[in-house]
Amino acid sequence: MVIRSVELPFVCGVKSTLPKTGRPEFVLAGRSNVGKSSFINALVERKSFARTSSTPGKTRTINFYNVNDSFYLVDLPGYGYAKTGPVEQEKWDRMIRRYLESGEDIEEVVLLLDARRIPNEKDLQMFSWILSTTGYEPIVVITKMDKLKRSERAKALKEIRAKLGASKECMMIPFSSETKEGRIEFLDLVEKILET
Ligand code: GDP
Repeated sequence: MVIRSVELPFVCGVKSTLPKTGRPEFVLAGRSNVGKSSFINALVERKSFARTSSTPGKTRTINFYNVNDSFYLVDLPGYGYAKTGPVEQEKWDRMIRRYLESGEDIEEVVLLLDARRIPNEKDLQMFSWILSTTGYEPIVVITKMDKLKRSERAKALKEIRAKLGASKECMMIPFSSETKEGRIEFLDLVEKILET
């Protein structure tokens, strides 16, 4: 898939009404710092389209990226961000739940996990929450694969799959925004899903 255009037409705060995009939405979830912004930037081949964690004053929003006028990447706020108070967190949890439960245009949910970390309680909660609200396991993208030695790769992927309790059919895509590993594979998958 060739990326011809990327726009960010909708940025939603916790009180915003979510837009009706009328296009298939691929929702991206993951804990803060997992590499979600870098993933988006790598996919669309823009250096700093999505703002990374290191951007000062990065606020928590749901960002709707229109790609090629054909589908949306929907960037959920990263979870597990220590500076967020419990009240604020609860508001976001409710908003995200509402979106996942009623988002008419949601095509797939993608859960990003860090290759070097065993999924924690929050990741496991997110995995089973996605499964129970959408009825499907998410596509799992394993980020920062370049940080592993070649000899560590298979073991890390196996451990993550086991910890999640994911089925054999659950799609897991090793990814690196540094080497661009997994970029074509993810875009091909999106293309295939859009065609069906
Ligand atoms: P976000 O909070 O999930 O949006 O995470 P960011 O995209 O801001 O990434 C968090 C940190 O991890 C940054 O310092 C990135 O440079 C780094 N990072 C993200 N993806 C990769 C990757 O694939 N490889 C390596 N080596 N570092 C990465």
